[in-house]
Amino acid sequence: METANAQELLRSNLSRVRIPEPTNRVYKSECCVSFDNPRSEGGLYIDMNTFLAFGKDCAGWNYEKTGNPVYLHIKQTRKLIPEDRPSKKPTLLAIGIEGGFDNNEAEYEVTYSIVVLPGHVTFPFPSVELPEKVVRLAADAILRAEGAERKEQLAAWTADTKKVSAHAMDLKQINNGVVIPPSGWKCVKCEKRDNLWLNLTDGFILCGRRNWDGTGGNNHAIDHYKETGHPLAVKLGTITSDLEAADVFSYPEDDSVLDPLLAQHLSFFGIDFSSLKKTEMTTAERELDQNINFDWNRIQESGQDLEPIFGPGYTGLVNLGNSCYMAATMQVVFSTQSFSSRYYKNQALKLAFETAPSDPTVDLNMQLTKLGHGLLSGKYSVPAPEVCEIEAICHFKILETRRITSSHVQSGRCCKSS
Ligand SMILES: [Zn+2]
Repeated sequence: METANAQELLRSNLSRVRIPEPTNRVYKSECCVSFDNPRSEGGLYIDMNTFLAFGKDCAGWNYEKTGNPVYLHIKQTRKLIPEDRPSKKPTLLAIGIEGGFDNNEAEYEVTYSIVVLPGHVTFPFPSVELPEKVVRLAADAILRAEGAERKEQLAAWTADTKKVSAHAMDLKQINNGVVIPPSGWKCVKCEKRDNLWLNLTDGFILCGRRNWDGTGGNNHAIDHYKETGHPLAVKLGTITSDLEAADVFSYPEDDSVLDPLLAQHLSFFGIDFSSLKKTEMTTAERELDQNINFDWNRIQESGQDLEPIFGPGYTGLVNLGNSCYMAATMQVVFSTQSFSSRYYKNQALKLAFETAPSDPTVDLNMQLTKLGHGLLSGKYSVPAPEVCEIEAICHFKILETRRITSSHVQSGRCCKSS
């Protein structure tokens, strides 16, 4: 299509493009109907009207169902790693996280474009050729938003652990004239400017704990608690208008906690939380990332020679924390005749999507059909690409043979790309 025609097409569909508000859930890492993701062959399409994500086929179904024509397309392509890539010297006793042991993670290149269906008219993004400001603003906001999938993972991770602190409701705050500025914080006892904790009793800003290897802070916040007994501190840089997500730590309870009066406790020190931006990871986010990056599956059967098996019915599920119990249950349930016929053999994925309500992510029938098709179709259980055959220990082999499990269907992948 000629540039002018393409731009006219986009312009005529602008009424269907929305800029996401902070309260909108923005899906951008997995299709809501299948297990396709930005690394799948067709990439991932974000509906710029509903912010739901779709694999290539499902985006077509969504266009048929809703008429929404404009999509932000995200495609991650694996980079080839030169064989002589020098391995970095680890500084942490961990695998796959910054400073830890290199686990030969594949690296991906990501490309974005704006696609107008049904003709797949494509505009590179970002690009000066994209004439419409609203499209640029919407695409920027989608990319900046915290993905709904990650929020759900975090909620699942912290669901059982975060409780209301016993010290929150009757916390005594000392009025010593402290007013906390919106940025530019520093530990009052040292030069640390990150990993800082605001004591909610007296307004002292102090650095976090020192890690065993010398990284982290200088223990000034916890030392302050030991001297004063002031129980609660909030991590600066984790406070946003979503107050429940702020990282509040209780020293006497030795745990991350909820403070139902946090808004009041912050305003005592002049903090307007609605204007603050997130600049630091919470404890839960760090734990989740470490858990995901540390591949527990890889060590479970080290040294054993396992025969890889592939195909329908041999699809594993990835673990999130200790979700292997849930995943194993799902594997058993979907191996029964009644579940496999109800949610796979006798129910097409497309039909489930067509009959689902406008938000398919909360529809039980849709999500069970998605899981049934993911597990039983064999689409996500394929032999590892040839490039991986040189690997001595293939993660994929372990995973597929044991049918290890969790919240996401494991696609056919090997240790190089996991
Ligand atoms: Zn300090």
